[in-house]
Amino acid sequence: MTIFSDSAFDNHEQVVFASDPETGLKAIIAVHNTNLGPSLGGCRMWPYASEQEAIHDVLRLSRGMTYKSALVNLPLGGGKSVIIGNPRSHKTPSLFHAVGRAIERLNGRYIVAEDVGTSPTDMQEIARHTRHVGGINDGKDAKRTGDPSPFTAYGVFIGLKEAVKFKQGSDDLTGMRVAVQGLGNVGFHLCAMLHNAGAELIVADINPAAVERATTELGATAVSIDEILSVNADILAPCALGGVINDTSIAQIKAGIIAGAANNQLEADRHGEMLREMGVLYAPDYVINAGGVVEVHYCREGRPVAETNRHIESIGATVREIFERAARDNKSTGFVADRLAEERFGKTG
Ligand code: NAD
Repeated sequence: MTIFSDSAFDNHEQVVFASDPETGLKAIIAVHNTNLGPSLGGCRMWPYASEQEAIHDVLRLSRGMTYKSALVNLPLGGGKSVIIGNPRSHKTPSLFHAVGRAIERLNGRYIVAEDVGTSPTDMQEIARHTRHVGGINDGKDAKRTGDPSPFTAYGVFIGLKEAVKFKQGSDDLTGMRVAVQGLGNVGFHLCAMLHNAGAELIVADINPAAVERATTELGATAVSIDEILSVNADILAPCALGGVINDTSIAQIKAGIIAGAANNQLEADRHGEMLREMGVLYAPDYVINAGGVVEVHYCREGRPVAETNRHIESIGATVREIFERAARDNKSTGFVADRLAEERFGKTG
């Protein structure tokens, strides 16, 4: 087993292995960097095939949170936790109490939130043993449902408009054709915002009900999941899976702008460089999909949704700075985003 030599280790400040024989808990909490504040990141529950796979995942995700929070100007660092287990069959309240006790032992250096495989109910169980939990809705603001997805969609919408403005001089979306891959929690909210702004939607999802909703409620045109990346569109918004920009798909992309919610859209960094050479403006995913983490932070601080939204609007200025630097230095936008994040959190080594 390797930790220090894992490609995602990157000088993590702390990695904690939490086990609890009574509940069968096997979890890893990774704190990548706390230069800007306590680390915050979701708790993922997943039936990892091996412990090494779980270690790599938690390190990779925790490091990513440092970059995301730094670029969205939150007073937070990056962390993440994973529970090795099947969320369909291994969940018990006492398992999450044991997670809460493990988090409490870190004295606030790590703040947990919901992620793949965990739910608001699980966060409430964790909160019985630690107050270091983000995203629990106290019910004081009626506009707050506890779901970060609309906030993520809002940030993507802001970033997408900034990309249009940078490329075309105006952020008017009237008549612009936007291809949206994935109509889930974020994708559908994004489609609604684009529709209200006058854009024409072209959509695909593996779930026929989601497609039906977008066509009837938003007048979207449906295409197959094999066509969506290569349709004739001004903007491509990947909102389903990671790795969609890869050696196979890249040559087929006709959109001049890529701006979507999905994490890790580029299969490898070199695909960012290839997009630059093709003249495609790519809004780095982790920069424009940070609205959800902003809401988790403001919710935890008990501050109103109006403040969350104002903060999310600052994503526009950040992504513009990235586009400008990338154009000036002939670098990919992903490369520039990483360097800007490192400047902000003070990367050493
Ligand atoms: P979701 O599971 O609600 O939606 C994903 C949608 O994609 C589903 O409707 C699914 O049917 C569809 N899909 C799956 N495979 C597809 C394919 N091959 N082609 C077309 N559609 C396909 O997830 P979400 O919460 O909307 O998140 C979407 C993406 O955004 C994910 O990559 C997620 O990691 C990222 N993200 C989400 C948030 C958030 O606040 N929810 C925050 C940051 C990043």
